Amino acid sequence: MRNIKRVIIVGGGMAGLTLSLTMKKRGIESVVYEQYDHQQRLDTGLLLWGFATNRLRDLGVDMDKAGRFLENIEIYGAKNECVATLPVGQVSREHGTGSYEINRRRLIELMGHLAGDSLRAGHRCVSTHTDGNTAVAVFEDGSTVEGDLLIGCDGAHSVVRKSLYPDVELEKANGGGWGAVLPFHPPGLKEACHLDFWQPGTKCGMADIGNGECRWYVNMREGGPSSESRNKESALAAPKDPHPALVEAIESTDDRLIWITDQTYLKPLPSWHKGRVMLVGDAAHASTSHAAMGACTAITDAFELGHMVASDKSAEEIMQTFEDERKPIADEVLKKSKSGLSMSASNSRIWAWFRDMAFRHMPEKQAKEIAEKMVLAQESDKDSAH
Ligand SMILES: Cc1cc2nc3c(=O)[nH]c(=O)nc-3n(C[C@H](O)[C@H](O)[C@H](O)COP(=O)(O)OP(=O)(O)OC[C@H]3O[C@@H](n4cnc5c(N)ncnc54)[C@H](O)[C@@H]3O)c2cc1C
Repeated sequence: MRNIKRVIIVGGGMAGLTLSLTMKKRGIESVVYEQYDHQQRLDTGLLLWGFATNRLRDLGVDMDKAGRFLENIEIYGAKNECVATLPVGQVSREHGTGSYEINRRRLIELMGHLAGDSLRAGHRCVSTHTDGNTAVAVFEDGSTVEGDLLIGCDGAHSVVRKSLYPDVELEKANGGGWGAVLPFHPPGLKEACHLDFWQPGTKCGMADIGNGECRWYVNMREGGPSSESRNKESALAAPKDPHPALVEAIESTDDRLIWITDQTYLKPLPSWHKGRVMLVGDAAHASTSHAAMGACTAITDAFELGHMVASDKSAEEIMQTFEDERKPIADEVLKKSKSGLSMSASNSRIWAWFRDMAFRHMPEKQAKEIAEKMVLAQESDKDSAH
């Protein structure tokens, strides 16, 4: 018999909505409390690998509405020449999946629609605690809700984590950057393609994210933008020799669409749960954006937890089993993300020359293997973590 009947989820991002949809499919009641009652002001784009989109498709998410099936990642070296093409689309198809470049807002809207009445917008949680076998969330207006379990999916600046670990703060890493989503395709953009530009001190990129939209980003290895430099001139000045397609995209951007970010991460927590409260996604393991894996990991975490909650295990067994399975994987992603942009944005021109030469002469088989590692990453990590 199931021990868990009612679950409270704090945070309606990718982790919270994935968890709610997974449990809905398994017949478990959950309510997602999201602080905002409106969509984010600025659109952002990201890449979701096949191992994560498989789970979303299983939940009924139409990935073609959220973004664009990714065919190739083209890597451009220090001299702005294409040094390698990773056949992500071919590999994804061979494994019965698809890796996608998406607009985050579109994906959240689709998932929110599927969640229906389970999603309650405009509810900001301010603290959580456990009372016997009951988890309690307290909201800004003083109201409270109770459940058998409370899952904190409230992102890197998690209030739920603060309730469990009042002294833990996010750490600052080197680097930062600019980005934007354009409501059109600039001329230099290749269809269904992600272009990665590796230059001394910066890693930049642009990609087709579907629905006639494109995203670009500029990441600095050291330093980063301030609020005064949230404009295209500053973004363009960061790479030493920006690729013409990137210049075109940035120059055609309205400054009001540009976002800036710094790089933060969380040191691995001793445990992701206490009492009847558990952390999932960035709330448990925020990493820098360098590994481009945070959302994929959050989705996979939430999907796996949703299935475990539906088992007949006790609350404590569910939380411990989940943590034993997922924490080694998340800790590994964190380690990779902290090594930052050492390969793609090395400041050494000699090193970059050797790197580009090695990539240019990389056999097709090896390019395919790299793509395979990314498309299926956490499936194989999961095997090695056991
Ligand atoms: C620049 C950048 C690029 C990235 N690129 C990629 C990429 O290419 N691929 C990838 O896999 N990952 C990428 N990531 C990481 C990814 O965005 C995160 O890992 C992912 O969004 C985490 O999902 P989440 O649901 O755990 O948290 P979030 O997406 O942060 O969602 C948390 C939700 O909780 C809500 N919330 C917060 N506090 C409260 C509260 N007190 N009460 C109620 N609700 C609350 C928030 O409003 C939000 O809706 C990138 C990140 C950045 C910054």
